[in-house]
Amino acid sequence: MAVQQNKVTRSRRNMRRAHDALVAANPNECSNCGELKRPHHVCPSCGWYADREVVASTPEVELEDDAA
Ligand SMILES: [Zn+2]
Repeated sequence: MAVQQNKVTRSRRNMRRAHDALVAANPNECSNCGELKRPHHVCPSCGWYADREVVASTPEVELEDDAA
């Protein structure tokens, strides 16, 4: 088992962790529906990517009570 040679002080540990913070996502506006979406990803709300529909959107389906 590897054993560290020197104690890492609270100061040095915290200085190392100073760069570990998560950065916020950088969403773009969908060119089709205007919803915020991740860049270079298919729009989750309308299924469009760039200027075309790549994920077919299904119309609302009415479920019967005994179907579930
Ligand atoms: Zn969209």
